[in-house]
Amino acid sequence: MVRVRLKDVTKRFGSVVAVECVDLEIEKGEFFFLLGPSGCGKTTLLRTVAGFYRPERGRVFFDDRDVTEVPPEKRNTGMVFQNYALWPHMTVWQNVAYGLSMRNIAPDKRTERIRQALQMVRMEAYRDRSPNQLSGGQQQRVALARALVIEPDVVLLDEPLSNLDARLRLEMREQIQALHRSLGITMIYVTHDQKEALAMAGRVAVMQAGRVVQSGSPRTLYSQPANRFVADFIGEINLISGKVVLLDDEIGVETPVGVLYGRPGYDDIRKDDQVLCAIRPEAMEFLAGRPGEADHVVTGTVRNAIYLGETEQYVVDLPDGTRVKLADSHPLVQRAFPGDRVSIRFARDAITILRDEGENAA
Ligand code: ATP
Repeated sequence: MVRVRLKDVTKRFGSVVAVECVDLEIEKGEFFFLLGPSGCGKTTLLRTVAGFYRPERGRVFFDDRDVTEVPPEKRNTGMVFQNYALWPHMTVWQNVAYGLSMRNIAPDKRTERIRQALQMVRMEAYRDRSPNQLSGGQQQRVALARALVIEPDVVLLDEPLSNLDARLRLEMREQIQALHRSLGITMIYVTHDQKEALAMAGRVAVMQAGRVVQSGSPRTLYSQPANRFVADFIGEINLISGKVVLLDDEIGVETPVGVLYGRPGYDDIRKDDQVLCAIRPEAMEFLAGRPGEADHVVTGTVRNAIYLGETEQYVVDLPDGTRVKLADSHPLVQRAFPGDRVSIRFARDAITILRDEGENAA
């Protein structure tokens, strides 16, 4: 396995800048995710690591080796695609064997490696089937075996679970994670599904319009998003706009619902900055009893309640027209109804103060 480094990588297609000035370091054995909306450049970046694209600017390193000019077949990467890309006229066994065919490996060793790869993904019993006799999940497991059989230094996965139904996706998530744990191999995984990234990743880079806007652990990205785009893309977020009026241990923001205190989400925060107080819906709850000292309380009117099974989501209009969402987990009963006046509490440390970059930034 290798450490993968991208230094100032830019990749264009004609006038389209697909990837711009990307710097990333992916550690040996890391399970690293590239996350972002459609068209943000994730696949282009992954294919640049694989060697299918040569960047116009910047370098790609595997450990200390500069591989920018090295062709894909000499990089020892295993690829897994959304559409599996199996050969329909070959059996499962032959598909996995194909991954080895380019390499000079003795026939007896080959057999052993194919057997092991199929065993890893629990597909030995299907070795003589052709891909069209397999379910989507089974096909993807064969594709994984084909990527792993070459004993790659890094495995690159491009939306590998997107073609599977919701339940199978969850199952495959666990299988891929378990494989990563047992092999300890460097993996880079592309997805637009933030839940997948949060659930599986060691670290995530969030991309927007060709650039990496934030990278960090799932927990950091979720609880301390660097800007509105990341906050919005990774789960739901309430944004209350205001102006910085106090700079101290805590930051005070004057908003239409009173002064809110929170922690800074960017470095050079100044007095009078126009900002957004970002609060996750699950960090808000209906006030029962007296609020704590570090609590904020706002009142509003329930507009709507949506039952989602694991949570119940309440949409609440605050007096100034700001609309917020409150998520009540484990909702055994509905706690408020449209038209009800409610008080909502949330802790100061649940607020991240973000620069207000305007609507277009989201
Ligand atoms: P998706 O999730 O939809 O696959 P993505 O984040 O992987 O999106 P890319 O496929 O990397 O995005 O595309 C980034 C940008 O580059 C897009 O604007 C896309 O239209 C453009 N692009 C990608 N491949 C090519 C190509 N071969 N020729 C021209 N433009 C391309």
